[in-house]
Amino acid sequence: MSSRVQILETDSLVAATPNLIAGSHIWVEDSDVAWIDGKVLEVNKEEIKVLCTSGKTVVFKASNVYHKDTELPPSGVDDMTRLAYLHEPGVLDNLRSRYDINEIYTYTGNILIAVNPFMNLPHLYDSHMMAQYKGSAFGELSPHPFAVADAAYRLMINDGISQSILVSGESGAGKTECTKLLMRYLAYMGGRAATVAEGRTVEQKVLESNPVLEAFGNAKTLRNNNSSRFGKFVEIQFDHKGRISGAAIRTYLLERSRVCQVSDPERNYHCFYMLCAAPPEEVKKYKLGNPRTFHYLNQSNCYELQGVDESKEYRATRSAMDVVGISSEEQDAIFRVVAAILHLGNIEFAKGKETDSSVPKDEKSRFHLETAAELFMCDAKALEDSLCKRVIVTRDETITKWLDPESAALSRDALAKIVYTRLFDWLVDNINNSIGQDPESKSLIGVLDIYGFESFKTNSFEQFCINLANEKLQQHFNQHVFKMEQEEYKKEEIDWSYIEFVDNQDVLDLIDKKPGGIIALLDEACMFPRSTPETFAQKLYQTFKNHKRFSKPKLSRSGFTIDHYAGDVTYQTDLFLDKNKDYIVAEHQELLYASKCSFVSSLFLPSPNLSSKKSKFSSIGSQFKVGFYCFLETVDLSFLLNLSSFEISSFVLQQQLQALLETLSATKPHYIRCVKPNNLLKPAIFENKNVLLQLRCGGVMEAIRISCAGYPTRKTFHEFVDRFGLLSPEVLNGSIDAVAACKRILENVGLEGYQVTITR
Ligand code: ATP
Ligand code: MG
Repeated sequence: MSSRVQILETDSLVAATPNLIAGSHIWVEDSDVAWIDGKVLEVNKEEIKVLCTSGKTVVFKASNVYHKDTELPPSGVDDMTRLAYLHEPGVLDNLRSRYDINEIYTYTGNILIAVNPFMNLPHLYDSHMMAQYKGSAFGELSPHPFAVADAAYRLMINDGISQSILVSGESGAGKTECTKLLMRYLAYMGGRAATVAEGRTVEQKVLESNPVLEAFGNAKTLRNNNSSRFGKFVEIQFDHKGRISGAAIRTYLLERSRVCQVSDPERNYHCFYMLCAAPPEEVKKYKLGNPRTFHYLNQSNCYELQGVDESKEYRATRSAMDVVGISSEEQDAIFRVVAAILHLGNIEFAKGKETDSSVPKDEKSRFHLETAAELFMCDAKALEDSLCKRVIVTRDETITKWLDPESAALSRDALAKIVYTRLFDWLVDNINNSIGQDPESKSLIGVLDIYGFESFKTNSFEQFCINLANEKLQQHFNQHVFKMEQEEYKKEEIDWSYIEFVDNQDVLDLIDKKPGGIIALLDEACMFPRSTPETFAQKLYQTFKNHKRFSKPKLSRSGFTIDHYAGDVTYQTDLFLDKNKDYIVAEHQELLYASKCSFVSSLFLPSPNLSSKKSKFSSIGSQFKVGFYCFLETVDLSFLLNLSSFEISSFVLQQQLQALLETLSATKPHYIRCVKPNNLLKPAIFENKNVLLQLRCGGVMEAIRISCAGYPTRKTFHEFVDRFGLLSPEVLNGSIDAVAACKRILENVGLEGYQVTITR
């Protein structure tokens, strides 16, 4: 993340520090720890000489120095808005003081900030805790995800409005763990409703869906040993009595490249390692063994996870699968497919007899090919053909074309990825079917756990998609926390200098606008077989040369930089076109549809034919249609006919995001911002600069500023008279109207700093 993130000028929070004298305790900027405290030695007009706690004496400008709250209790305050001095160093210091004593949760008004403790704190989450939060007013007990879930639950019951809890933060910040706590609490509150077949309750199924999805969708990465490689929105439905009556899980953007490409020291999806550690008879049945012998796993040197017993995980996954209603035959088929993918990865190719053809390289490759075919329950020769040949159907004839060894290996990887993706989607669909939906339900609570903003050394299409999702969610956050607040003030005609916040609509337009945005141009490029990453990048440079959120990096011919709400990210376009053209090869489709295993075959039911594809595309903007039909008429019809399913990833993503945001906008949102205190994933290390960046990116600093700059308490006239009428009993006899009564009460007690507005 770049240093562009200057959303918040600290000095706009408080007037430049008044009343500084020698001896004042203050905060000053520091290049190592962001903010350091010290004592004023001398005040010389605009210059302040400071003795920092590091021992250094430094001279600062008065405008860069902030008061330190010396009265702050050692355990900090549990709501930032209660800080005496609300500025960046104060906020950071408060979080840190709390973190030091394992108070990992802090409110900022309605937003819960959660700092990952990287250690077990079981007392925080036991059933005794849940019982305490049940029914206590928000803010009465210590900040906690249970309190957020409780508030959402109660608002849903009392006001009949659907709620959503949006959990965000960077990889490893604790989103998934937090989401699980929320789900546990909601299951506790709304539990024991309709029992479904097999004696499992809906809430048990909802909870047990987590380990199943984690086994297949989580992996160890550099940033997190249990990183979710997909986004998830869990919608829990309630009946009129407030009991859970159904649920639906939606997933987003599974990282499919990981199935065949892993970089050291990361790992592939957990399920592969679990299966290699399954009981001996199963390992034998699937012809597995040491994970080190499989190409899809041994590209990285990491096989084990500290503190994780894979064979135990395997059993746990199996029993969670039982709970969510996956039969043991289905489980066998699922793991058979997982094993088949491993064998598939071990097939290597060498040059064949024909020019530019390929064949399995040696006996070993043949063995893996035959084993994969056996496990997929398909014909081995057909599998080989589907990897090494392409059948091209044109208007007049059918031509068989060989693939060279390199293309055959790509074809193999494409097969592995599509099988795994379909398997994952099957799991989600099946869990949803098993949990069941409640069509009668009018109220729901949605919990969103989606990847945070990503910015790496090299960023590709995946980061582009993830960051688009984050821009959209950030806008949603902005709209609620900021725009709503401002509108409220405007509506109430309150004299208040509006706080400016960074609106990201311009970034969204750059990426997402139809027609004309980056995605529209990408989709267009994908329609033309002659496009290359360079031609696509050139088109972007041309189109957006004057866009203030877009730039071309120096010395790059195919990269581009977007100035995101959370900083600059440079993307490499090299694989954008390929990754966006998310198609399944006809040969693979036919092969597995013909499988004798009904499970495998069901993953590859033929998709709608080309004519329905036309209609799918025709729903997209008109530009897109024109592009598509030109393409159909003139260019390479054969290529398209040959693909049984041709989807545009970014198009699917845009649709998914639109649906998600529509759902969210019909709910009352609650926000939890997870913070990762260090990159070592270790307890008790709190890196100031790192944390600060995350608070800025998540809009937390802005939210603090707004709730402080405005009026934190706002009561309607009647509420106010009801509550405070006792202070001026004469107003209670009904002789004056509510507005006049309020003013009288306020005058009588001599209160200052209030405003009387249109309705409050
Ligand atoms: P990703 O985006 O990579 O999926 P995430 O934000 O979902 O990351 P989690 O998997 O929830 O991160 O958390 C990472 C790790 O941090 C957990 O595996 C656990 O070790 C630790 N952790 C997170 N939250 C807590 C908590 N409340 N108490 C104890 N440990 C925690
Ligand atoms: Mg996660």
